[in-house]
Amino acid sequence: MALFKKMDNLEEEQNTEQLNGETEHVKVLIVGSGPAGYTAAIYAARANLQPVLYEGMEPGGQLTTTTDVENYPGYPQGIQGPDMMEDFKKQAERFGTDIRFGLATAADLSQRPYTITIDDKKKIQADALIIATGASAKYLGLESEDQFKGMGVSACATCDGFFYKNQDVAVVGGGDSAAEEALYLAGICNKVYMIHRRDQLRASQIMQERVFQSENIEILWNAQTKEVLGDENGVTGVRLQKTTGEEYDISVTGFFLAIGHKPNSDIFRDYLEMDETGYIKTTPGSTHTNLEGVFAAGDVQDSIYRQAVTAAGSGCKAALDAERWLAEKEFEAKKAAQKEEA
Ligand code: NDP
Repeated sequence: MALFKKMDNLEEEQNTEQLNGETEHVKVLIVGSGPAGYTAAIYAARANLQPVLYEGMEPGGQLTTTTDVENYPGYPQGIQGPDMMEDFKKQAERFGTDIRFGLATAADLSQRPYTITIDDKKKIQADALIIATGASAKYLGLESEDQFKGMGVSACATCDGFFYKNQDVAVVGGGDSAAEEALYLAGICNKVYMIHRRDQLRASQIMQERVFQSENIEILWNAQTKEVLGDENGVTGVRLQKTTGEEYDISVTGFFLAIGHKPNSDIFRDYLEMDETGYIKTTPGSTHTNLEGVFAAGDVQDSIYRQAVTAAGSGCKAALDAERWLAEKEFEAKKAAQKEEA
């Protein structure tokens, strides 16, 4: 049944309808595969909404680039991020979620059903859309940083740290991510510089203590990166500037960014209300966006908590919100059809 195309044949199956060529119609489309997306999928599948989930560029989301997750309830000994996301995925699959590899590259939310383009090619029409696209690592925006991306510049220590075994590296940032990355690298590398623009870390107390206790992490306070230095073989160092204006160089072969994230919401910009950073606005206490039938969950709408457990919680809410909204629409459609018949 295409809820917004025709009101008859209400019992018809929705998810298999081919509208034309590459266009497919689904009842619930979930974009994104972090804790929010998979949890939404578990709930939507259990509610028999036959969800289709597109995994995006980074299947499993940000947690696949982290190591120990020690604060997700239910794992008293902690768990590796990638293992946890594999479990989320298996649970979503167990209840029948159609999980597909592909990136949402465009959106047309001007009318219902909403149309999402996958990999610039396939079009999916969805009655209800759950956006759980998460957020991506930010870069400083330096030309030299761009030049050495993949040649010493990385935003994922757990992905690339191994390549810098026994070498000297630098991590930029003073938050929990920077602390986590620095600690991870400290276990592999000879020396880790933590470059922070202020004289105080933003990271939680427990992470700060771990950093301070680590013998091979040195914090370079009040320092901004001016330039990433390198040659044809990759990064060789970093030019820093103190708040006093004084410049100095350090010798490193790896340069890791951990300065926060940007929500992956660009393709929805023309349709959804967002804050200045691009976090999608939802009605407080729910996952409803300004468009009915479009729900946002996880880091793409959460600039404050940004935790796996809060993302999972909002994924659950999104599926419940979508289920209720679809039930209301179906009821309205049925009533309208009955009225027409009478
Ligand atoms: P945060 O926004 O918390 O920290 C970003 C850091 O980068 C800040 O120290 C900030 O400096 C610095 N920064 C930002 N922009 C620049 C710039 N242009 N140049 C130099 N420095 C810059 O992001 P995180 O990714 O660290 O954390 C996000 C959220 O996820 C937080 O809520 C955090 O607690 C959570 N988290 C929890 C973890 C855990 O519990 N294991 C692990 C990782 C993240 P300044 O301090 O001056 O603003």
